[in-house]
Amino acid sequence: MNLATNTKIRMTRQRQQILDHLSSVKTHPIADELYQMVRQQMPRISLGTVYRNLEILSDSGIIQKIDVGGTQKRFDADISNHAHIRCVKCGCVGDLDVHIDVDFEDAARKACDFEVLRHRLEYSGICPDCKDKKAVLM
Ligand SMILES: [Zn+2]
Ligand SMILES: [Zn+2]
Repeated sequence: MNLATNTKIRMTRQRQQILDHLSSVKTHPIADELYQMVRQQMPRISLGTVYRNLEILSDSGIIQKIDVGGTQKRFDADISNHAHIRCVKCGCVGDLDVHIDVDFEDAARKACDFEVLRHRLEYSGICPDCKDKKAVLM
């Protein structure tokens, strides 16, 4: 994603905490999950503050916001252009390290008159945990 403009924003203590927690996980947490993590260090922080800061951080390109299939917004501290895979059973989101040799944006530019900014590639499937659960039930 090279859309990130990296607008300079003030790194407040709250913002830094949120960023640190987000960087420490690979789970693509939703705002509420991050709130639970940050609250351990900052008991007075509110969910609204976490939300607001996540929006600011993603607007300025420091983190990435993932909108997968109309579910709750998830966040990712890894802003490199990588694909995501979502579990249709539990909704967890994983990183997908696949290299697809197609310039999707360039292909779109040729097909329409829009100024194409970005695209989203999303896979879905059944995660290993859910696959195991299914095996146990059977
Ligand atoms: Zn799952
Ligand atoms: Zn990711």
